[in-house]
Parts: sequence; structure tokens; C-alpha cells
Amino acid sequence: MKIVLRGGLVIGPTTSALTDIAIRDGVIVERGTSVDLTNAQVIDVSGCWVGPGLVDLHTHLREPGREDAEDVASGARAGAMGGYTALTAMPNTEPALDSVALVSFVLAQGAKTPLDVAVAGAITVGRRGELLAPMAEMAALGVRIFTDDGTGVQNPLVMRRALEYAKPLGVRLAQHCEDEALAAGGVMNEGALSAALGLVGRPALAEELMVLRDIELVRLTGGRMHFLHLSTGRSIALVAAAKAEGLDVTCEVMPHHFIFTEERCGHYDAQFKVHPPLRGELDRDALRVALHTSAIDAVATDHAPHAPQLKELPFDEAPAGMLGLEHAASLTYEALGEDPSPQQFFELLSRGPARVGQLREHDRRVGLSAHGGDLSVGSDANVVVFDPAARWIASKENLASRATNTPYDARAMLGKVRVTIAKGRLVVNEGVLQ
Ligand SMILES: [Zn+2]
Repeated sequence: MKIVLRGGLVIGPTTSALTDIAIRDGVIVERGTSVDLTNAQVIDVSGCWVGPGLVDLHTHLREPGREDAEDVASGARAGAMGGYTALTAMPNTEPALDSVALVSFVLAQGAKTPLDVAVAGAITVGRRGELLAPMAEMAALGVRIFTDDGTGVQNPLVMRRALEYAKPLGVRLAQHCEDEALAAGGVMNEGALSAALGLVGRPALAEELMVLRDIELVRLTGGRMHFLHLSTGRSIALVAAAKAEGLDVTCEVMPHHFIFTEERCGHYDAQFKVHPPLRGELDRDALRVALHTSAIDAVATDHAPHAPQLKELPFDEAPAGMLGLEHAASLTYEALGEDPSPQQFFELLSRGPARVGQLREHDRRVGLSAHGGDLSVGSDANVVVFDPAARWIASKENLASRATNTPYDARAMLGKVRVTIAKGRLVVNEGVLQ
């Protein structure tokens, strides 16, 4: 069956064009204003942006171990609803994804979904930060990102050895930047508000010190590093300066850090508990400004499903993390401000993350298709249709995710994902899973 997306604005890396796109057998087969509509399912997308399917570098899919919160299949449905065609399963599962067997298991679960599910392997055995995991064996399976996310690699010698080990493998390490000694016991941003609320804070310095340390380790080793979920203006400035020097570093930011401030923790609502924590206004605004620059390579979600009984615990006992996949596109559109550039929108949500995660090329070993492309004829059909004029109210009642720990319930949203086509298959149409 052929699908034709008709009348949309197709967003290339530098230019846009009003043109139809025809898709068949997983590939874009035709472009133009007079494509053949015979036997085609025609979807009118006038007024919408048609771009490469979104790519998430940071998805907690919870399988194996916490399938009560999410599994690969339910996470993929949430991803599709959010416009994603590729996700990166984080390795802080139970057990951690630190071996060929576990990585193979999650890749196989991903292959059963309509999306491409890449896997991030653990840097150290059990994510304990001590012994290096068999990264070469996992890389041979197609793993391109390694991280102990959930926590950062604390020991600088272990991180140095990991960078040296990873370098010839052509893979990238990704660091959760928090010095655990400095952040110990903290449940929100450290500052006047945490003091007033009687909660222990996690200082911005805990993040910035780790960014600084790992930039120096990249300099020492010539390795590659991706900085996960940066939350402060100073962290972004450190990465921008390292890039200007030519170091191979990249970074991502999360919608919750550029949408919310720590004020949201003021009612002890654990939906707003996240690591690194929500910061103050200055940092939130610095992230928003940086979205328009090349300092930031990607917006990622840190989609972190938790079972309801856990998120209902008191603020200082509840687990950190919130859902992200189903709202990231709208929140990024909103944060880009008045008259946002569609090129920058797709740079942050698709092309940038596809570059960092090495997902731009078809990988036959793992059966992953190509993402973040230019939607040219012959390319893999991973496509999203985003309606910038849509206005809607988010609700935790109609999430595709198995979990409901969203901080965006009842929030007014700008712009909406209407269609997701993954590997040529219509997975979401008119905002509804097919
Ligand atoms: Zn993390």
C-alpha cells in the first residue's frame, strides 16, 4: 500500500518546500506536486510540517525488570504517539544491560515494535562504576552509545579507561553528570527554596564539576563524550567552549529543564522530582537561549516511567523521573518561541540526535533503518507530521505509556504530532495509534 502525504511543508536541513511525499515498501518513492495517487492512501497534511521521524537518545523502557511501569512495546507506542521513529533504550534496567545477552534481548524486543529501538549498553558491570563491561562485544552487536545513566561514572580512573577502551570501537560514552558525593541525599535543586522547604538540595556544582572533569578526560584521551540531560547554563557554556576547542563532545537537554523551574517542587509534588533537578529561572532561560545555538546537539526526553505507587510516596522517598515521549515535540516547539524555525525544531529532535547516536545510516546487522535524513527519494521512510497550529490539552488519562507519572497533566500544549510513519508503516494517524 502506498501512502501519500499531501500538501505539507517538507522540512529539509536548510530549506523547506511545499511538496507531496509518496511512501511505499518502507521507502520514500516520489516527491513533487503531481505524485501518482492511484491506489494510495492519501493523507491531507496541509498547514503541517513534514520532517524526519524524531529520534530520542534517552529513553527508559524499564524492560527487563520493571515491566509494571513500562516495557519496550508500550514505550514504543508512547514514542510513536510523540512522533518518534527511533528510541535509545537506556541500560539502567534490572539487571543492567551490561552484556551481549541482555543487549540482544532488548534489541529483539525492539524488533517486534514498529519503531527502531537502539540500545545503550552499560559502561561498567552492573552499572556499579568499578569494572568495565564488555563494550567491544556489545559494539559488535551495533551498540553505539554506552552509559551508566541513572548515576554517573564517579571514579575518574574508571572513566579514563572507559574512554580509552571505547575510542577504537567508534562508540560514544554518555555521562549522567552528577558528582554523587556532592549531591548526596539531595532531592531537589540546592538553593533558597530547598532550604525553605526543608529538603536536602543537589547543587548545580555537582553537575558542573562532572562536566568539567569529563571534558578534561576527553582532552587527555582524545575520546568521545555525550553529556546527558544538562540542566544549567554553566554546563552548556562548558560544553560550548570544549566544542570550540575541537574536542569531540556533544550534549542534550530535556524539555522539563527548559519548561519548568524548581518552583514546581514547592508543593512537594513528586511528579516534579527528577535528577538532575529542576533549576532556577536563570538556568531555565539559559537553556532556552541555547536551543537556538549549536551548543546543544539534541533535545532528549529522559522518559522515566514509574509505577503509580512509587510516585505517590512522599517527595523525599519517591523515585526521580517523569514521562517525556508524548509531549517533547510540543514542548520544544513552545520553547523555541515566537515564529520558531522548523529547521531548528528538526535539528534538535531528529537530525542532531541521529548524528550523536549514529542512526543516520541503515544498519543491516541490527536491522535499524536510517533516521534524521533529508526525506529525499530513496531514503528510509521515517517521517513525522507536526501541526504547529494545533492547540490541545495534555491529559494523563490518554497516554500510550503504561505509566502515568507526567507533570504535564491538564497543561495547554502548542503544536501536535498528527502522523508518525516508521519504516514505511503508518503507526499514528490523526493523533491516533493505528
Ligand atoms: Zn540520567
